[in-house]
Amino acid sequence: MKCRHCHAELEHVFLDLGYAPPSNAYLSKEALRAPETTFPLKLYVCDQCWLVQTEDYTEADELFSGDYAYFSSTSQSWLQHAARYVEEITKRLGLSKDSFVIELASNDGYLLKNFVAAGIPCLGVEPTDSTADASEKIGVPVLREFFGEATATALADGGKRADLICGNNVYAHVPDINDFTQGLRIALKKGGIVNLEFPHLMRLIEQNQFDTVYHEHFSYLSLTSVSRIFAQAGLRVFDVEELPTHGGSLRIYGCHNSDPMATKAVVLAMLEKEKTFGLQDLSVYQGFQQKADKVKNDFLAFLIEQKRAGKSVAAYGAAAKGNTLMNYAGIKHDLIDFICDAAPSKQGKFMPGSHIPILPPTELAKRKPDLVIILPWNIADEVIQQQQQVLSWGGKFVIAVPELKVLA
Ligand SMILES: [Zn+2]
Repeated sequence: MKCRHCHAELEHVFLDLGYAPPSNAYLSKEALRAPETTFPLKLYVCDQCWLVQTEDYTEADELFSGDYAYFSSTSQSWLQHAARYVEEITKRLGLSKDSFVIELASNDGYLLKNFVAAGIPCLGVEPTDSTADASEKIGVPVLREFFGEATATALADGGKRADLICGNNVYAHVPDINDFTQGLRIALKKGGIVNLEFPHLMRLIEQNQFDTVYHEHFSYLSLTSVSRIFAQAGLRVFDVEELPTHGGSLRIYGCHNSDPMATKAVVLAMLEKEKTFGLQDLSVYQGFQQKADKVKNDFLAFLIEQKRAGKSVAAYGAAAKGNTLMNYAGIKHDLIDFICDAAPSKQGKFMPGSHIPILPPTELAKRKPDLVIILPWNIADEVIQQQQQVLSWGGKFVIAVPELKVLA
């Protein structure tokens, strides 16, 4: 296999998590009686451009054939993050009714609705019908396409170049990162700004976040690799911020390479920080499997210990993260009784691979488990706050990443 960015031969495995079903392939009761498709879940690192990427699959289309779609608006903290972002960027760029904003993977309009409310013209690009429908219902216009060079050219030809193109948590999910980045250049006005947020590979390695790996998450990005991908497309990263979202993300600011914005010192400082951390050093990548295995083994041993002690264990949050962790650890229904999730679209279904039933959060009070594993550890505070009741029967919250911890 060749690197998706620079086409060098990929020779170094970063992480091998065995085989897993697509993380969003939640199963109905009937589907449990049928065979389940799994794909290898393996990441490579390119020793030329340092892009960490998933292995290619012969049937990648199947990954997106599921009828389940994630609705961004179900997470309160993500909604607040989006509203805060719109307020800040509007001020920083002086956006007005004469500006034009494009959001890529605009989902259900959770972010753009803030621009609509402020009277700033905008357009979402979103290929998933169910979320696009939800978006239009609240008055956020949507172009139902995948974004890349072709879509961007059509937008530019129609006079729809943007002052701001933003994409929160889409860049890592794009299969053809070069095509997507070319699209950014084409759809961006001269003097315009691209804002992308993505989980920071440096934090993934540092905090053992191997459970953020899943098939639909094609690229694991650093400023080192993104700067290079941008440069090749005629764009330049001129500013960067670190965010706490998704266990540690970067928000980059890009412009046309020829635009006058000076590259800020923080960009060079972050590149230096990544270099010091070892993001251009193969051994740092090659040591990660061992760290991931320790987290997995500790978690599995903990669950077995609870089982032997006669404790009841439930989990909260039927997220992609949980699927990766449980499938890699080989955890099934015998070690975790059930998983609660607030999204009605998941309730009554079963987790892919592990086949653990997904129930509404009200089941916690009925069954009073001794331990509640919070699978989306990045929103642990939010979950604990919402589910304080667990403490009332002496229940405790647990997280597995970055290391096993009984929280309360
Ligand atoms: Zn490469």
